[in-house]
Amino acid sequence: MWPRKRFDIRLTDIATGIFYCLKPFPAAQARERLEKFWAPDGDGLAFLSVRSGFDALWEALGLPEGSEVLITAVNIPHMAEIIRFHRLVPVPVDLDLERMAPLEDLLPKLQSEKTRAIVVAHLFGGQVRMEPILRWAKENGLLVIEDCAQAYSGLHYRGHPEADVSMFSFGSIKTATALGGALFRIRNPQLAARMRAVEERWPVQSRLKYLQRLLKYAWFSVVCRPVPFALFVSTCRLMGYDYDQIIHSAVRGFPGSDWREKIRHRACAPLLLLLLRRLKRYDMARLAQRAAKGEMLLDLLSQHVFCPGAKAENRTHWVFPILVDDPVAVTSRLQQAGFDAARTHSLTVIEAPPNHPASPPLAESKRLLQQLVCLPIYPEIPDRAIRRMANVVLEAYRPTPLFIPKTHPIG
Ligand SMILES: *Cc1c(COP(=O)(O)O)cnc(C)c1O
Repeated sequence: MWPRKRFDIRLTDIATGIFYCLKPFPAAQARERLEKFWAPDGDGLAFLSVRSGFDALWEALGLPEGSEVLITAVNIPHMAEIIRFHRLVPVPVDLDLERMAPLEDLLPKLQSEKTRAIVVAHLFGGQVRMEPILRWAKENGLLVIEDCAQAYSGLHYRGHPEADVSMFSFGSIKTATALGGALFRIRNPQLAARMRAVEERWPVQSRLKYLQRLLKYAWFSVVCRPVPFALFVSTCRLMGYDYDQIIHSAVRGFPGSDWREKIRHRACAPLLLLLLRRLKRYDMARLAQRAAKGEMLLDLLSQHVFCPGAKAENRTHWVFPILVDDPVAVTSRLQQAGFDAARTHSLTVIEAPPNHPASPPLAESKRLLQQLVCLPIYPEIPDRAIRRMANVVLEAYRPTPLFIPKTHPIG
């Protein structure tokens, strides 16, 4: 069975991480090396996670209570919660699903005199064209923050140079993962200095915890090969466990209700050193291969099935989403055929604030999450398996003859 996801890390990287855990090294020095490599111009900051840096950002900005933050309506739940925790109001912006970009028309409608910033997420491994959003935001004096957690595509791309803040995640399910860690680019040096000062008050992450994490993923990376994975799935089924839930909860970065405390840590030296190694040695050919496989699948499917992000820019296919009327049936057909397609994901539609004058229905974002199925895509899946997967989808999907593709009101 082709597992839904291949962790984008090799056993040799994990072994090196374990070695770093056993070797004493000052965290401050490791951080300096990493930040210099990531951002030779000095505009980079490393954090334990995107959520950690995002938390430090709002703390450092110190915006007046009740300030509004426009945000792409779909993200992981913690991102909106972090904004709310700082007594600010996230205002979700619905998506154009073809480009996986905020609907630009909505921006002026959702803006109020309290609006201070906009957070744009580049979802599923593609990129949003930032120019129109940047232009509008700059005219209106808003801070522009890019969430590039799903969009790492090599050192040549550190976010849009005009964005105020760009954030990349190296959490366990992300591209070029170091099983944690995040890199930010911050345009304003004073803001960067204030964020660093916030972070310096936090304790350093325990090396032992990080070591445990490395060991856990060493095991996962063995299980997530087709044969052991099939065994794992059938064992779970025999014992009556929902393997979907097991995987989903096992890979969560900060489980539990005390996640807010957990994100407020500095990364330990072994994590920072492993992240540096990942950046230096990352196999760009692998990424290009994944992107090419994704494009092949897109060619096979996009005429028949709605593929969100099909018109996003620089698609790297971190995941391959499709929208279908009956996601349960399509997922189970794919699983029977040996493809571990998944309906579980960590995304949510951010709730609009009550009494907001332009409270949007968020119809597109809701449709995305209701109809979403994620197909496995990574370099190890041979082309013939991809063609077979496409056929299974097309057979299972069977659109009614009256099916009219939904068009999206842009402009
Ligand atoms: C993974 C992810 C994050 C969080 O990244 P961490 O480094 O795990 O905190 C934020 N936004 C999006 C869109 C993500 O996919």
